[in-house]
Amino acid sequence: MVRIPITMCHGINPNGDYPLTAEHLEKLVKIAAEMNFSSINYDQLSQWFRGEGKLPSRPIMFDFDHPVKSMRYEMHDVLAKYGYSGNLFINTGPLDELYSKSMPPPHLREIMTFDEIGQLMESGWHIGAHTVTHPNLSQLSLEDPSGEKLRAELEQCDETLKKHLGITPQDFAFTGTSWSQIAEREVKRRYRFGRLWIVGTEYQVDGETMRYADLVGVDGLDEADGGPPMAARYITKNSHPYRLPSMEIQRSLIYAPDAFRRYLEGAL
Ligand SMILES: [Zn+2]
Repeated sequence: MVRIPITMCHGINPNGDYPLTAEHLEKLVKIAAEMNFSSINYDQLSQWFRGEGKLPSRPIMFDFDHPVKSMRYEMHDVLAKYGYSGNLFINTGPLDELYSKSMPPPHLREIMTFDEIGQLMESGWHIGAHTVTHPNLSQLSLEDPSGEKLRAELEQCDETLKKHLGITPQDFAFTGTSWSQIAEREVKRRYRFGRLWIVGTEYQVDGETMRYADLVGVDGLDEADGGPPMAARYITKNSHPYRLPSMEIQRSLIYAPDAFRRYLEGAL
């Protein structure tokens, strides 16, 4: 069975126990290139799910969340050097804020401009939706059981991306490690896929804490490295399209080059 590894990160972030610099990202991306992986986007994934398209023999997905400037520069440049492109999920609130006042000089600006996002698209990056204000979806489901607030968030996010980039996003990334049945219902109405984020073994679901593996219906015990069962870490034909995994780079699970290599080997 085809297993697709999928990584996630929020751009350059040199802080914390697992700092992500362009140099570190390149160490990992280079491993994928040496192992002959080819990056794919959500259009290819969708065709494959529907049985219509063939994937490259070793597919990988490089996912990114948030419209921060390093996506256009460091992240893009490292991926492009090895012939890869990414999938970027955009929460539009920071863009609304950026354009609500006079544009700061580039060295003080942390958020991408729409022009820079357009440049990513031109170089083959795929764009998805990630709400406006980035609410905790587990918490929001308790505050607004009707789903009205989230519906408005999704609508507004899509409208902003349509207005400035000319695209209607077809794919969604859930915010943080939060999920709810209400959110999934709303996401299903608008998008082809919903993607989750693996940073450990737990998730916030409908106001409770739950094992990630239970949320995605994968059997087996959590692993000694602090993550869910191996089978839960890859996209397969059996993956729930609205509960796709992604592996955070800035955690112990795949940060070290050896751990990253083992993750890719697990797909073969
Ligand atoms: Zn996010």
